[in-house]
Order: sequence, then C-alpha cells, then structure tokens
Amino acid sequence: MAQESAEGSRKGLILINTGAGKGKTTAALGTALRAAGNGLRVLVLQFLKGSWHYGELESAAALHALEGFTYELRKLGRGFVKVGGAEADPEDLRMVEEGWAQAEAAILSGEWDLIVLDEINYVIGYKMLAPERVADVLRRKPEMLHVILTGRNAHPLLVELADTVTEMREIKHAYQKGILAQRGIEF
Ligand code: ATP
Ligand code: MG
Repeated sequence: MAQESAEGSRKGLILINTGAGKGKTTAALGTALRAAGNGLRVLVLQFLKGSWHYGELESAAALHALEGFTYELRKLGRGFVKVGGAEADPEDLRMVEEGWAQAEAAILSGEWDLIVLDEINYVIGYKMLAPERVADVLRRKPEMLHVILTGRNAHPLLVELADTVTEMREIKHAYQKGILAQRGIEF
C-alpha cells in the first residue's frame, strides 16, 4: 500500500506555498494543525507581521496549553513594510537578523518536527535576507524535520531545494470589490 511504503521511507520535507492568490499562510497553518494533531512538535515563526493581532496566535496558545500538543507561534519583527526603491530601515534589518538567528537555531536544534517560516519569501524578496543563507541552513536541517516557507515570489534557489511547491493562483479576491480584511478570514 502506498501509505505503508511511505511509512517505510519517512522523511522531513521542505514545502513552499507561494503565488499571488490568497491561502499561503492559511495552508501552512492548516498543515501545522494537522501536524500538531499527530503529536508533531510545531513551531510557527511569522516574519513581517508584527503590528496586527492575529487569531492564530490565540489558537496556537490554547492548543499548546493542552497536554500532548506542542504548537508554538512566535511573531518576529514589527511588521516590515517596504515599497520599492527606498533602502530598508536599519531597525527592520536588525529585526530580520534577529528573527533569522532564531529560525536558524530552531531548525538546527532538533527540538521541532515542523517549522513554518511564514512570509520568509518576502524578507528574501526585499533583499533583507540572502536566499543562500536560508538554503545553507535548510541543507543542514535534521533529517526528519519538515519546513514550510510561505510568501509570494519564492526564490528559484529555494524552489529548487524544496520537495513540494504550491503556487496559489488568484482568480478573484474580495479586496478588489473594496471589501476590507475580515476578522477570522484574513487575520
Ligand atoms: P492568508 O494569510 O489569508 O492565507 P496569504 O498568506 O496567501 O494570505 P499574504 O501575501 O501573506 O497572503 O497576504 C496576507 C494578506 O493579504 C491577507 O489578508 C490576504 O487576504 C491578503 N491577500 C492575499 N492575497 C491577496 C490578493 N491576491 N489580493 C488582495 N489581497 C490578498
Ligand atoms: Mg501570508
């Protein structure tokens, strides 16, 4: 059976959720929920998003408090915003460095079974973090650790390295009708 042979060759995967359509973070959090329910130790590191209040933070904390579940969610940074041209704010760069140091340590620690690097593709896309550094750490990750990277415009080097890459394609989005972000759906 496919499932049995899969069981015989258990392996930590590198997954990427990219593309312009909605659902990259949502899918990663869904996988995190699935993993936590299987007893996997889950760590979600959210780059970029510092200023909003996200519902997933409460859900993770509630789940983490239950016996048998390990589901930690940490927000890194203060909500990095950079649009085109201007140089990145040194404070944002410092926070990216700090965030990446935390991610690297977690990946190499052996303490986790699934790590989500949420929005890391944006940090790389804004040239705040070199893709080679990320690739180097992913190549040295513990055999059984799964890592999910999210964000638009995944770097080709990381796409090459990944086992499973999914592109979310936008067909339509409520924002286009002027509908604002909805609690529970967007945050
Ligand atoms: P989500 O967190 O909802 O799964 P995402 O991770 O795919 O979204 P991000 O690039 O992280 O997308 O953007 C997060 C925010 O931007 C969310 O509020 C989401 O609804 C919104 N968003 C995502 N895709 C689009 C789009 N194509 N047009 C407008 N807004 C979008
Ligand atoms: Mg996202």
